[in-house]
Amino acid sequence: MATNHREEALRYAAQHQQAHLDELIEFLRIPSVSTQPERREEVREAAEWLAQAMRDAGLENARVIDTAGHPLVYSDWLHAGDNAPTVLVYGHYDVQPAEPEDQWRTAPFAPQVDGDYLIARGVSDDKGQVYIHVKAVEAYLHGAGSLPLNIKFIVEGEEEIGGPSLGEFVPQHKELLTADVAVISDSSMMAPDQPSIVYGLRGLCYMFVDVSGPDHDLHSGSFGGGIDNPINVLCHIVANLKDEHGRVLIPGFYDDVQPLDEEERELLAAVAVDENRVLQTTGAPAVWGEPEYSLLERLGARPTLDVNGIVGGYTGAGSKTIIPAAAHAKISMRLVSDQDPHEIAQLFEAYVMELAPPTVEVTITRNGMASPSINDFNTTAVAAASAAYGEVFGKEPLMRREGGSIPVVGDFQKHLGLGTVMMGFGLPDDRIHSPNERFYLPNYFRGIETMICFMDDFARRE
Ligand SMILES: [Zn+2]
Repeated sequence: MATNHREEALRYAAQHQQAHLDELIEFLRIPSVSTQPERREEVREAAEWLAQAMRDAGLENARVIDTAGHPLVYSDWLHAGDNAPTVLVYGHYDVQPAEPEDQWRTAPFAPQVDGDYLIARGVSDDKGQVYIHVKAVEAYLHGAGSLPLNIKFIVEGEEEIGGPSLGEFVPQHKELLTADVAVISDSSMMAPDQPSIVYGLRGLCYMFVDVSGPDHDLHSGSFGGGIDNPINVLCHIVANLKDEHGRVLIPGFYDDVQPLDEEERELLAAVAVDENRVLQTTGAPAVWGEPEYSLLERLGARPTLDVNGIVGGYTGAGSKTIIPAAAHAKISMRLVSDQDPHEIAQLFEAYVMELAPPTVEVTITRNGMASPSINDFNTTAVAAASAAYGEVFGKEPLMRREGGSIPVVGDFQKHLGLGTVMMGFGLPDDRIHSPNERFYLPNYFRGIETMICFMDDFARRE
């Protein structure tokens, strides 16, 4: 019976590919940029749109839930019976800013199909991957009349800004969100035909450093040599955060980093990372980083520190001789287990204040925080995910760590006791967070098929 339903769902998905693509394009037209206050209404519009798409797919109780920040979207379908497992699907409908917009070959919120790719902001991260789950549910409910298991969706609008709303919602709504496993599609595969399951995620600690000196820009001839320069000071601080090999110099920074054991290094070594492909993807002239770790280890299993933006002084045409009044930097650290983002923030603050001379004022502000996480990969859900990938892609998935952060994985673990299976369908060269973000369309459709197979397989195993 269940297997019949699966075949019916797969047939439905195959017959509705064009509609599934057209709807995704509609979703992508809504510029739900969570970090820009002027996009607030559009962020809500994307939430409302998604809730309606969930209703249309046959999901029940679909609703937009207000928070202090951007709204959450919830829906469920709970008629598979008490013996059937329940899956909680998480994703995010907010996107990164499109800037710099002049580097896009097509308008970021006017999705374009280009050969096998769909190009638009948020198509891979994460609207396309969220929509895979909605369409897999639709394939069962419209194509076969029921799902093999119970399912709940919680989709947030603050992932890209490390917003607090979902983190506050989870412990307050344990009953609503209770499930047997969480499934997240917000990561990438190794290559178009090589699926992977992510078992480790980095955390995040994001700091703003503001340096101010004189209360207005000064003539550098009249005051240079007598009044300190906030940009010079900020550069001195930044230069002392890392050494030339990429090691972070903040005292205590590595104290809680779990060393990679031999077993895991071997597991990771099975995932061949092609250095040339990394260079091609990034356009950078060479790779870089801690010499005693492999490229893959550096990209996922080691912590980092990066300046994301730095401004100050005169940057217009021509020259202007001043000692600027202020300089600002935005600095992020990617963390690995068991680094605690709040402890790292404290270490960062203490070290930067120590570097700061009394000739300027330094203000440090904490921004997004996310805990790193490691998931068990010997579970029935992971086995079902592997089988589903194997069936659709014809290849077993590789196990790997991902360099990005998904804060909710730690929240699910801590408050709901939930393990997470990360089944990503993006690709490393999707240019997420960059101009010309894209999604490889064959894997959008295979993603829907994979989730259809996963639901059936997981229900039978449980
Ligand atoms: Zn994402």
